[in-house]
Amino acid sequence: MRILVTGGAGFIGSHAALRLLDEGHDVIVVDNLFRGHQGAIQSLAACGGPRFRFAQGSICDGEFLSDVFARERPDAVMHFAALAYVGESVERPVDYYRTNVVGGITLLRAMRGANVRRIVFSSTCATYGEPNPGTTGIAESTAQAPVNPYGETKLCFERLLRAACRSTEAPPLAAVALRYFNVVGCDAKGRLGEDHRPETHLVPIALEVALGKRSHVALFGTDWPTADGTCVRDYVHVEDLIEAHLLALGALGTGEFRSGKFLAWNVGTGRGHSVREVLDACRRVTGHPIPTKEAPRRAGDPPVLFADARAIERDLGFHPKKPALETAIADLWRWMQAHPRGYA
Ligand code: UDP
Repeated sequence: MRILVTGGAGFIGSHAALRLLDEGHDVIVVDNLFRGHQGAIQSLAACGGPRFRFAQGSICDGEFLSDVFARERPDAVMHFAALAYVGESVERPVDYYRTNVVGGITLLRAMRGANVRRIVFSSTCATYGEPNPGTTGIAESTAQAPVNPYGETKLCFERLLRAACRSTEAPPLAAVALRYFNVVGCDAKGRLGEDHRPETHLVPIALEVALGKRSHVALFGTDWPTADGTCVRDYVHVEDLIEAHLLALGALGTGEFRSGKFLAWNVGTGRGHSVREVLDACRRVTGHPIPTKEAPRRAGDPPVLFADARAIERDLGFHPKKPALETAIADLWRWMQAHPRGYA
């Protein structure tokens, strides 16, 4: 197939593009390189040869997108391009709505113009807000009540996809939203890594301490209502997350999806790890003491988030192959040691 991947120079989008190339598909990456990396594009070009194409531009630019669709005639879209920092979304909601919602609408219009009717959308557990996960985790049926503009924009686009799938447009749209929990690790072969500017995520920050680029990890709150006082999250290996995208894409062409439908699944492991547990895993992998300093709680952090991951297993047969946190950390650690300056 020919798959158009928006945001394919970013962390998750580049891993999706790489896996699609590994599977023998043609991949067209659309990315404006605002947060994405030229280095990721170079790796993809080296892996994909003529099956890989890169179109630099914005998903908010309808003419640009129409040209790309007309030229490349993709069979389906994987949509990752987005602004994705919670704190920044509070500061710059207009930019977040423009990129994540207006950009999504522009993409859907270009898809309609080119008669492309299949899309897998990168959504997030941030659409749930601050739910009570109980003992079984957050299920897809949990009310979606985001508590920041980032989560709002992702939910807004999910709702638009749902409406578009229900519409009478012919042929109908078929869409899947995958609601990610925390994503860690990188390509085990070291062809791609994780490099956010600025870096705010726990695991890369801990590994930057082990590399000597930072002195310590700030513990954002040690008085949360959890077993060890730190927040609990569900960490899924990026390779497993991408596997879920391939399963979703495969389902979109078949059975009940053929006639157009919107479905959403969580992607997680179903298991939570506290910040202290994550740091201990980083210490085991790196052999570095990774010092910490207690710091105030970070605004907007829910204490406990982990997925009820049973639906995607039941419906698509998805099962994480790398559920151990150490595996993901070790994959990223190798890449960061080989690329101490990231993609720079
Ligand atoms: N965290 C922390 N120190 C850091 C970065 C993150 O204590 O320097 C905590 C954060 O408060 C959260 C967890 O680690 O409870 C995971 O944060 P991350 O930013 O990696 O992902 P999020 O869950 O916010 O998407």
